[in-house]
Amino acid sequence: MKILVINCGSSSLKYQLIDMENEKCLALGLVERIGIEGSKLTQKVNGEKFIIQEAMKDHTDAIRLVIGALIDAQHGVIKELSEIGAVGHRVVHGGEKYAQSVKINDDVMKILEECSKLAPLHNPANIIGINACKVLMPSVPMVAVFDTAFHQTMPEVAYIYPLPYDLYTEYGVRKYGFHGTSHRYVSSKAAEMMGKDIKDLKLITCHLGNGASAAAIENGKSVETSMGFTPLEGIAMGTRCGSIDPAILTYIMKEKNLTIEQVNDMMNKESGVFGISGVSSDFRDIEDAAWKDGNHRAQLAIDVFCYKVKKFIGSYVAVMGGVDAIVFTAGLGENSPETREQICKGLEFLGATIDNAKNNVRGKEAEISTDDSTTKIFVIPTNEELVIARDTLELI
Ligand code: AMP
Repeated sequence: MKILVINCGSSSLKYQLIDMENEKCLALGLVERIGIEGSKLTQKVNGEKFIIQEAMKDHTDAIRLVIGALIDAQHGVIKELSEIGAVGHRVVHGGEKYAQSVKINDDVMKILEECSKLAPLHNPANIIGINACKVLMPSVPMVAVFDTAFHQTMPEVAYIYPLPYDLYTEYGVRKYGFHGTSHRYVSSKAAEMMGKDIKDLKLITCHLGNGASAAAIENGKSVETSMGFTPLEGIAMGTRCGSIDPAILTYIMKEKNLTIEQVNDMMNKESGVFGISGVSSDFRDIEDAAWKDGNHRAQLAIDVFCYKVKKFIGSYVAVMGGVDAIVFTAGLGENSPETREQICKGLEFLGATIDNAKNNVRGKEAEISTDDSTTKIFVIPTNEELVIARDTLELI
């Protein structure tokens, strides 16, 4: 069976068509600027690009084009739409309702709508994507796979904030955690690489991309994670501030006379390594500025980022009472040996020592700790789409 995996954003859409016979990705693509001038679809098949530049007024238009590209006589990978057996949708927020993926029906759609309150920037776009597929492929079954689901195993002590309790009972204010599909994938892959049952392991997974989060995974279950009520909490990220003293907000709103929207933008779009360095949110630019141009603020941004990740690793060792392996994944975690080295420096007391030669790896699965490390360190490229496709297949 072939499964179409869709990750819908407000003006963009990523997709992959996966053949579940061999779990091979047949085609992957990105649609950008949906509903905005200059819309474009880029599809890759075996590394070869196929670009369609055409006006798209909404996500239904975009998905229509995706289907067109997949069945294109010259550049496509299937002959007709009926070859798509199911669609798996990445959905950001499943609230407390979903600890697992779910087959989509009208009742599920109602709950997704309710969860939009908790993820106003993400869930509405995911819902639009699902509705567009319903219009274009009404008989194809669909599954929702949630970013939050994997972390629903966190104990109360980890997810309750020290705020008035009715904020939790009345407004759903608690830690949910995100990047769950990625943490789930790399943790099970790490167990596989160690030749051990995940139920016997204590793992710390570090998803370090433009968004960054760490998770403590004990016996295969997420017991703590750095993102919180929203994906803003935790590690300093590309443009997100991560955890800060909440009193800064009221202070700076007063001093600079900022509105809620302005301060929200500041925390989400103008902070993180971009805010510190003033150079970029992209680590490649920041590394260049720090190491080639000797830019102090760029170096400081890298240092702050690595320091925060290290602090989470340390705290998760305490939470689990030990750690068997640390895993790095996502854009930066997979591709920056320097960042991995800096984060792990000083963790030797845990029995986690990076092997510099083995660490010289980018975008490939690898064990990068020394042979005598009692805590293993891994680089594992994440594959959220594959998890979505596997869950979809299982549920239909
Ligand atoms: P993601 O959100 O997972 O796509 O990750 C994006 C982040 O990974 C950006 O900050 C990129 O700069 C970073 N990244 C990707 N490739 C590299 C690389 N070769 N070296 C350093 N950072 C990288």
